[in-house]
Amino acid sequence: MDIAIIGGGASGFFCALNIAMQRPDAQITIFERTSTLLGKVRISGGGRCNVTHSLFDAIDLVKKYPRGAREMLSPFIKFNPENTIEWFRQRGVTLKTEPDGRMFPVTDSSETIIECFLREAEKLGIQILMNAGITQIKKTEHAFELHTNTQRYRCDAVVVAAGGNIAEDLKNTLLVMGHTFVPSVPSLFTFNVPKHPINSLMGVSVPMASVKIAGTKLFEEGPVLITHWGFSGPAILRLSAWGARHLASVNYEFKFIINWIQGSTPDYIFQELSNYKQWHQQANILNSPIDIPKRLWKFFVNDTGIDDHTIWQAVPKHLLQKLARRVSVDEYDARGKTTYKDEFVTAGGIQLKELDFKTMESKMVPGLYFTGEIIDVDGITGGFNFQNAWTTGWLAANSLAIS
Ligand SMILES: Cc1cc2nc3c(=O)[nH]c(=O)nc-3n(C[C@H](O)[C@H](O)[C@H](O)COP(=O)(O)OP(=O)(O)OC[C@H]3O[C@@H](n4cnc5c(N)ncnc54)[C@H](O)[C@@H]3O)c2cc1C
Repeated sequence: MDIAIIGGGASGFFCALNIAMQRPDAQITIFERTSTLLGKVRISGGGRCNVTHSLFDAIDLVKKYPRGAREMLSPFIKFNPENTIEWFRQRGVTLKTEPDGRMFPVTDSSETIIECFLREAEKLGIQILMNAGITQIKKTEHAFELHTNTQRYRCDAVVVAAGGNIAEDLKNTLLVMGHTFVPSVPSLFTFNVPKHPINSLMGVSVPMASVKIAGTKLFEEGPVLITHWGFSGPAILRLSAWGARHLASVNYEFKFIINWIQGSTPDYIFQELSNYKQWHQQANILNSPIDIPKRLWKFFVNDTGIDDHTIWQAVPKHLLQKLARRVSVDEYDARGKTTYKDEFVTAGGIQLKELDFKTMESKMVPGLYFTGEIIDVDGITGGFNFQNAWTTGWLAANSLAIS
């Protein structure tokens, strides 16, 4: 049996290795468009490769996927981060868990993952063709014909693992075969608030804030970081994933509200400030009972029109109310987005209803499989996007191994 894998990235390699392990008789070829294998793995996680996340329960795991949560439940029951850890362990790669649950190789180097994949591929006799971009896939009566710009190849089954941003020629050939795509939009980005005075506080971070997109139910909580262009940090990145489609539809111009003391209300904060004022009348306004960084508090104080030298006794009730609102309903206008350290994924891809999630096989074209980011599944930041690549690659491999 000849099996072609389109894409020498995370999912394509994982799929190829898992087929080869089970079917030594199969001739497996990885076609890679560029001259680099596993390019995204190399740069992932800041060069450390955040392989997966220590979230083992499938029901909890799917909650990390803004798109594809329902469809990925059964796949994650079959192959989840626990299986990923074991798969790598059996091949001499130990993963470690960081306090926030992200998992990396103990070497802190993505090269460890790449070396493991390349070593296994060689051992298992997988053929790898570089600079071999597939431009066309044709279904013949009992097989497939793949075209590159210069060659044609025959194979019995095809796995398309071409990632999130596929070229028009490959996309068109899949459209001709009857597949459709949910349009791609970026996910995992930071919010720009250009020229806003808060940008002067770049580097200030709050470990537990909450952020909401005004007029929607989109909400996240966690660390927020002020940057020289706006806001970043895990809460913002996760919110960008949940809001990827909505934010694209408004051209990244939207209002968002930060609650710097997660769960607080303006009334509650006002009460805290009033109590403090009562007992610390002569204290300087820059001494505050509110548990936020001193620079952020000073910014709110000055932005509310209060001078640094003011004592609490001199601050009238209406300014305390204003300060309380700044702390718990702090509103900003986003004007654009910035890709987070290039660590974006695409939301969108092959329509989920066109795939059988037991096997990752196309429901329209038997023998054609899709895995990884090309399908309309994406996770928030934290190792969840690679886990999608491993799980879907593994499912396709298992199906091909018994066919
Ligand atoms: C900078 C960065 C850092 C990231 N860090 C993390 C992280 O730490 N943890 C995490 O979980 N996720 C991370 N991600 C997301 C993760 O890298 C992707 O979700 C994952 O690589 C998707 O795997 P894939 O195999 O589907 O696609 P890819 O890894 O993109 O591989 C697809 C491959 O197919 C090839 N290809 C495309 N078209 C063709 C064609 N027509 N013919 C032949 N070959 C073709 C491409 O050249 C590419 O090599 C990161 C993403 C980026 C951009």
